[in-house]
Amino acid sequence: MTYFNDLLDGYQRFRTADYRRQHERWAQLKDGQAPKVMVIGCADSRVEPSQIFDTLPGEIFVVRNVANLVPPYETTPGHHGVSAALEFAVTKLGVEEIVVIGHGKCGGAHAALTEMFHDAERGDGGFVHDWVSLLDGAREKVKAKFGDSPDLGREMELETVRTSLANLMTFPFVKSRVEAGTLKLHGAYFAITDGELWTMGEDGEFVSQLKSAPALA
Ligand SMILES: [Zn+2]
Repeated sequence: MTYFNDLLDGYQRFRTADYRRQHERWAQLKDGQAPKVMVIGCADSRVEPSQIFDTLPGEIFVVRNVANLVPPYETTPGHHGVSAALEFAVTKLGVEEIVVIGHGKCGGAHAALTEMFHDAERGDGGFVHDWVSLLDGAREKVKAKFGDSPDLGREMELETVRTSLANLMTFPFVKSRVEAGTLKLHGAYFAITDGELWTMGEDGEFVSQLKSAPALA
């Protein structure tokens, strides 16, 4: 037995339950996708956008990577995976909103904050170090402001969201649409432990979206 066998068991449950409930929607989706929202999240196994936002198939276009990062607009040759997905979502699919969602206990944000892989070879953390160097500016800003505060880690996680939102605006095809009012950018943060979602306001600060709900059993 492998873990993949467990996944195949999951597929059988999906095929007999959720897929049956949604089969008309799946049938429509064969003609193409038209999501209105792009979500950029962390690859972390605990932060699944379609689960957190309870979305249907075809509803959100998702890119996930270490620390939910959007790199700045770059025209150097290379394999710009996030930029390709962003370009496709914005200019071809015509998504109207982009949500960047960070999260609690983020290993990528922690690696950026501590520079724990700064001497690491590729294959031993070097790739992570290179990637999260996108947060070098964020680290300096957060350290200067929060120093030894116990909230330092969380503030770094929130700053990953602000950094990605700022980098989104360096893409000309994003900036022009935001300024024209045809594309909106949002920041969010999922705390994991207590299932609490926070959203970023115009002022860059985060407010909880947790509404009163029945107590957990
Ligand atoms: Zn993460």
